[in-house]
Amino acid sequence: MITKQIVLASRPNGMPTLDNFRFENVELDALKADFVELEGLFYSVDPYMRGRMNEAKSYVAPFEIDQPIEGAVIAKVTASESGNFKPDDIVMGWLYWQQKTISNSKELQKIDTTIAPASYYLGILGMTGLTAYFGFTDIGKPQAGEAVVVSGAAGAVGMVVGQIAKVYGCHVIGIAGSDEKAKRLKEEFGFDEVINYKTTKNINEAVAQCCPKGVDIYYDNVGGEISDAVIANINFKARIVLCGQISLYNSKEVPTGPRLEPRLLTKSVLMQGFIIGNYASRFSEGMSQLGKWVKEGKLKSTETIVHGFDKLPTALLGLFKGENTGKMIVQA
Ligand code: NAP
Repeated sequence: MITKQIVLASRPNGMPTLDNFRFENVELDALKADFVELEGLFYSVDPYMRGRMNEAKSYVAPFEIDQPIEGAVIAKVTASESGNFKPDDIVMGWLYWQQKTISNSKELQKIDTTIAPASYYLGILGMTGLTAYFGFTDIGKPQAGEAVVVSGAAGAVGMVVGQIAKVYGCHVIGIAGSDEKAKRLKEEFGFDEVINYKTTKNINEAVAQCCPKGVDIYYDNVGGEISDAVIANINFKARIVLCGQISLYNSKEVPTGPRLEPRLLTKSVLMQGFIIGNYASRFSEGMSQLGKWVKEGKLKSTETIVHGFDKLPTALLGLFKGENTGKMIVQA
């Protein structure tokens, strides 16, 4: 059987373009014992994939030129040689960007679509939800009444962080890239204030106005000048959760900013980075807590669904232009 796949055609220099990807037809392997045939339903596009397009060594290996891109995919079993899966089961796995694929069943996880729609397992009940939960609770150590600032607030991780912060009784300030996103965060997702970083002239002053007693927790998804402005308002014994630095992922040179260390030192601030894989042994705890909050209506999800397998590269590039609100997902 022939199927379509998307490979990395070339490495980007700065902002990636569609030319960095190529579509190819490949023949599927024969189905052997313990393997299943899958049809992709929902594909996750995530900012970390930009790092994998570079050659540089990191916590995940780079994508290889002329080899398929891979990521989290929700798929339907269409044929099975495994006792654990039958046709029509819905599974999640780290799979190639292929319309159909043959996968080792041991690398797949069955998902329960009676609890939540399948696509939630790529977002609020998946990697981005877990990232929000562990980064915020384990490193942020929130206390009721504290002032929390979240950058990248209208994205998959940020939106969940803000809602969890409300569950803990915090005062929550989001930073996002449009008035429409700001309105939704306040009206639908319970954020107290949202700063539009694209139209606000002085973000430092805007943060000071929203947090007159200083920022107790800064959950950072973007880095760069936005972080400089938030950290200028950091409080004594604050916690800075370094989750992502998306504003720097396409930089050709590392930009320099103000020296932050004296401020961190004099304010006794903890700044800690993390990779969600660090929490792998606690994923079931995170999933059950997130699932409980979703069921209780304390956490809401929103997704930007792009339709069509061929749109995967466009959707990935869209993350760097703010084209998503909530989790960006491609539906085949
Ligand atoms: P996302 O926020 O759903 O999507 C990216 C968003 O980032 C865009 O919608 C855009 O929103 C904003 N953005 C893009 N370029 C920007 C720039 N130059 N300056 C400021 N904002 C910019 O993505 P996500 O999946 O939730 O990931 C958020 C961050 O967490 C990323 O940095 C990601 O790498 C990181 N992450 C880390 C881990 C971990 O294990 N540490 C796991 C998952 C994600 P606006 O319209 O607001 O600009």
